[in-house]
Amino acid sequence: MKNNNISWSGFSKKTPAERTAHLQKHELLSKASQQSLNTQEMLSLDRADQITENVFSRLALPFSLAPDFLINGQTYQVPFVTEEPSVVAAASFAAQIIKRSGGFTVQVHNRQMISQLVLYDVPDKEKAKKAILAEKSRLLSLANQAYPSIVKRGGGACDLSAEIKDDFLILYLIADTKEAMGANIMNTMTEALAAPIEDLAGGQTLMAVLSNYATQALVTAECEVKLHFLSRNKEQAQVFARKIALASQLAQIDVYRASTHNKGIFNGIDAVVLAAGNDWRAIEAGGHTYACKDGQYRGLSTWTYDAGNNSLKGSLTLPMPTATKGGSIGLNPSVRLAHDLLGKPSAQELAGIITAVGLAQNFAALKALTSTGIQAGHMKLQAKSLALSAGASEDETAPVVSQLLKARHMNLETAESILRMLRKQQGQDSSLE
Ligand code: NDP
Repeated sequence: MKNNNISWSGFSKKTPAERTAHLQKHELLSKASQQSLNTQEMLSLDRADQITENVFSRLALPFSLAPDFLINGQTYQVPFVTEEPSVVAAASFAAQIIKRSGGFTVQVHNRQMISQLVLYDVPDKEKAKKAILAEKSRLLSLANQAYPSIVKRGGGACDLSAEIKDDFLILYLIADTKEAMGANIMNTMTEALAAPIEDLAGGQTLMAVLSNYATQALVTAECEVKLHFLSRNKEQAQVFARKIALASQLAQIDVYRASTHNKGIFNGIDAVVLAAGNDWRAIEAGGHTYACKDGQYRGLSTWTYDAGNNSLKGSLTLPMPTATKGGSIGLNPSVRLAHDLLGKPSAQELAGIITAVGLAQNFAALKALTSTGIQAGHMKLQAKSLALSAGASEDETAPVVSQLLKARHMNLETAESILRMLRKQQGQDSSLE
């Protein structure tokens, strides 16, 4: 499954059918995934109806692959689900440079989830806090009794702490939810504690629920980029490296830049989280909260240029409570395909891959921004989107794109007018629907 020696040269020029054949040839897909791809039936309407409510259709999105991420010495072929042009191309480009510079190193610091039980109208909060903490081991057993299967899997509740904030007494339950993200597991365990804790504290429960600020599930990805990949000219490469470091510094102090800096990171993270059937709202919420952990919203990644050693180093840390089990992961055949492509990683391995993708995406964006500018690479893809929106067929797309790139104003109106002219020249009906 995790083949380090596959050639991906020319993959982007292949047709979708040829790309699928490439994946099959290198045995990157399970039999079930190959079958789903062959029948084009990725998510049936019946299955979709089982996953959420009021379903009457499904939304399809492009499912792509960014090859050859070298992470902790292991090569991964990474599935991306995104509608945004140039995200996959940028990630693939960055992955190639970083692989040739030695690859990513990732570290999963811990993998536990946190939930909150919040009490109000507690007559004596200090006394209540002491009474609750004195009963910690009994309360942890009660939490585990509420979800015994996670204990059988080697996980379960492991700590309980308390904090007084304004009118509230807040309890934090910490648990290991193993391969699951753990929202339902945590909610079940925490709700089970509400009555016994009210008995001890004498107040009322306001809520008992998971916190998406998963500070006990932090992951760091790091890489070092060889400077000659920034430019063949040594002095120019040093200028680019310094500019990338300055862009990172800017994202630490300027919130307008930090927001866009982090959006670029999530371009990659969300695409893989979505492909892997995980809860991208949860990952986004945790990531953005972590970005303002010291009170100011900052860029999540940092890049440092060491002129003496001629090195550019990147680092990204954020909460990454990913899952390989639970939610709708087992229900969607496209998600199974994504896990197949990644070589069926564990939840912790998946968290590392996704964090590395975020750093790669960030590197690609900063490299483009501080050298050619972001639009150069985007324009061709934007022209293609406009040609397709104007109604160009497969054969018409290339000539429309080529003329659009030369046009003074690249917009839908121009694309439609180019298409009309093209059809007129070819003696076709020039009406656009
Ligand atoms: P589930 O409720 O699906 O629970 C995990 C499931 O995976 C259980 O059925 C468990 O089986 C099974 N499982 C199989 N193998 C393992 C294993 N090795 N380790 C752990 N579980 C295993 O998922 P979660 O509790 O993770 O909840 C995630 C869902 O909750 C997502 O859909 C999310 O969108 C949603 N959610 C998110 C919220 C938030 O982020 N704030 C709030 C509420 C919901 P068994 O029971 O036999 O152990």
